[in-house]
Amino acid sequence: MTQLPKDAMDYRGRQRRVAQAIAARHLDALLLTHLPNVRYLCGFTGSAGVLVIAGGRSVFFTDGRYRQQAAAEVRGARVVVPRGPVLDAAARALAEWKVRRLGVESEYLTLEEESRLARVLSRKVRLRKTLNLVEEHRMIKEPSEIACVRAAALLGASLFDKMVAAIRPGVTEREVAAELEYAARKAGAEGMAFATIVAAGARSALPHGVASNQPIPRRGFVVLDFGVILAGYCSDMTRTVHVGKPDADSRRLYQAVRDAQQAAIDAVRLGRTVGEVDQAARSWLRRAGLARYFTHSTGHGVGLEIHEPPRIARAQKEVLRQGMVLTIEPGVYLPGCGGVRIEDMVVVAAGSCEVVTPTSKELLIV
Ligand code: ZN
Ligand code: ZN
Repeated sequence: MTQLPKDAMDYRGRQRRVAQAIAARHLDALLLTHLPNVRYLCGFTGSAGVLVIAGGRSVFFTDGRYRQQAAAEVRGARVVVPRGPVLDAAARALAEWKVRRLGVESEYLTLEEESRLARVLSRKVRLRKTLNLVEEHRMIKEPSEIACVRAAALLGASLFDKMVAAIRPGVTEREVAAELEYAARKAGAEGMAFATIVAAGARSALPHGVASNQPIPRRGFVVLDFGVILAGYCSDMTRTVHVGKPDADSRRLYQAVRDAQQAAIDAVRLGRTVGEVDQAARSWLRRAGLARYFTHSTGHGVGLEIHEPPRIARAQKEVLRQGMVLTIEPGVYLPGCGGVRIEDMVVVAAGSCEVVTPTSKELLIV
């Protein structure tokens, strides 16, 4: 089991780069309330805490429940455990440091938190929205992060056979998910990266068919989309299997998605845009007359969160850079009938991209 020492993560380097980004935006400080960003910058894995980066200092505020854990985990920041609410304490510190322009994570700061800040901070302090300021750095993974992602992907993939073994007509989708999730825990996963998708028969046409109490029918596709968390990093893969013998149309549908997925993987090259990767899958499906049934984007970044930038979607301009970890997951969904999705994780590297999901993409018949 790959369990990297925490110190393999370059928390100080990350904080330094984010501090530069803060200065470049003419902010005096950044208040971080989104926990995956807090974890990325100082290593804290708990569920409550805020990090403040201001000039040369980083201070992490958490509550009494996390005193010990923060002392053990946090790197590169002073830990403060205030008596009252952590946000009030952070605001008092910001006031003391005479911060005037304060960056906040506008996607994650609630209105309630905003008014709490306003109560403590003087009217001279201006809150400035920031969007993806830390996520832009997280997009490019360090080698130690790629090792974690790879280990998570391999652990996830190693459970696929157990999941397939549970698929039989009459067994509910939830039972199939339960077998997978039990095996995941036993194999050392910290948890599931998202609600496991087991979508059988007509439900396979739901792109997000979270496992339900519906029994597996005698015939049809079953979309299996699942991921585990290992050392904080998520895996994400999808395979579509067929219960009973598939007819010629079902085989054609499967092959079209498989070819579209390969076309998108082949388009993952340094310097190209994510929009071009999306286009590769979409034009393949257009030629097969299936483009209008491909109703979502081609993929997403994955790391400490299951969905993180970049979004691999139509017309997106983000350029592929070394160290990005992406999913490639086109799908085709015929309403009332069935659907197919195939998803791998890929690492963008100097030569070409590397598919880290090792599972076969031959149509599996169970
Ligand atoms: Zn997925
Ligand atoms: Zn995905």
